[in-house]
Amino acid sequence: MFAVSDLSTHKLMPVAPRPEILFVRGQGSFLFDSDGKRYLDWVQGWAVNCLGHSPAAVVAALSAQAATLINPSPAFYNAPALELAELLTRHSCFDHVFFASSGAEANEGAIKLARKWGQVHKGGAHEIITFDDAFHGRTLATMSASGKPGWDTLFAPQVAGFPKARLNDIESVLALVGDETVAIMLEPVQGEAGVIPATTAFMQELRKLCDQRELLLIVDEVQTGCGRTGRLFAYQQHGIEPDIMTLGKGLGGGVPLSALLAKQACSCFAPGDQGGTYCGNPLSCAAGGAVLRTLTADGFLEAVQDRGDALAAGLRAISAEFALGEVRTSGLLLALELGRDIAHDVVIRARDKGLLLNAPRPQCLRLMPALNTTAAEVVTGLGILREVLSAVD
Ligand SMILES: *Cc1c(COP(=O)(O)O)cnc(C)c1O
Repeated sequence: MFAVSDLSTHKLMPVAPRPEILFVRGQGSFLFDSDGKRYLDWVQGWAVNCLGHSPAAVVAALSAQAATLINPSPAFYNAPALELAELLTRHSCFDHVFFASSGAEANEGAIKLARKWGQVHKGGAHEIITFDDAFHGRTLATMSASGKPGWDTLFAPQVAGFPKARLNDIESVLALVGDETVAIMLEPVQGEAGVIPATTAFMQELRKLCDQRELLLIVDEVQTGCGRTGRLFAYQQHGIEPDIMTLGKGLGGGVPLSALLAKQACSCFAPGDQGGTYCGNPLSCAAGGAVLRTLTADGFLEAVQDRGDALAAGLRAISAEFALGEVRTSGLLLALELGRDIAHDVVIRARDKGLLLNAPRPQCLRLMPALNTTAAEVVTGLGILREVLSAVD
């Protein structure tokens, strides 16, 4: 078996700077490495393991489904996909669902659906207004839709048709709307940018603008969906209904699964327009069904909000104690501004002490605990973070 001592000769492409640790097991909020060391995991696969590592409900659903039917082909119906589509539409404002395997793939689908709708209903209008610092994925089109600094030239040329506005600045959006505009696409909370929420006023202004100019409003809820913000979907806290939504990350509870949801009026794919080998496979959809049933059980989302409030209060206390910066939160998606470039250092020191954190920016920490994390785990993690910050100071 591969051991941590073999890591110097591994054959994986170096697409991420990885620590010399081999994780061998995960349970709930904790990961265990090959030396048996335990880590409280506040990364959770980048908000993917919404119910923690290897949750019983997902393990049971996967085991039963794996023994029954793994992949009959996306050209045949299967019960887990039909059931999950039923659940998602019942709990949202959408009518139709297309399943895929990654957030980027779901967003590609959203872009294609908007362009198709533009061809059918708007004389070929195809531009989709997106936002500075947005993150929509790593395919060529979704990188082009993203507003990450430097991504406009990495792998140039970009896919055309994604003019960039500024979040929470309706004038910057209005200035870009023209005859070629077909949609506006945004994250309700910019995750990779460091947990920057769109305001309710801005979401409502976008909805109004889309109604007036006959544009589609697309929300990328790959990170904010599936309970992360304390609502099942983040758009629900703004009193608006988007036309299209994408989900990923938490949807499969750790298993590759994403979804593109659309209202009937813009659900215009015809047979042949969209597909994929793994799309809607029963194994992933069975996991998604187990996740959705857990998230929608009585009291679950209230507990997410309570836990998020406790963690936010703890972070604010730490920020005050060490004279750090802003704390931004939305349910169990949280960021702490450190005021200087120490985030990477803090991540390493916290890991040594058994706490896994993420630093989306050099001055910013992001926390994405499991949604079913306990009050005691929140106290433990805050204690380690406090210890680390006093050592850095
Ligand atoms: C992670 C993420 C994506 C990309 O999802 P992948 O599964 O990595 O392709 C897209 N949009 C948002 C908002 C994300 O956070």
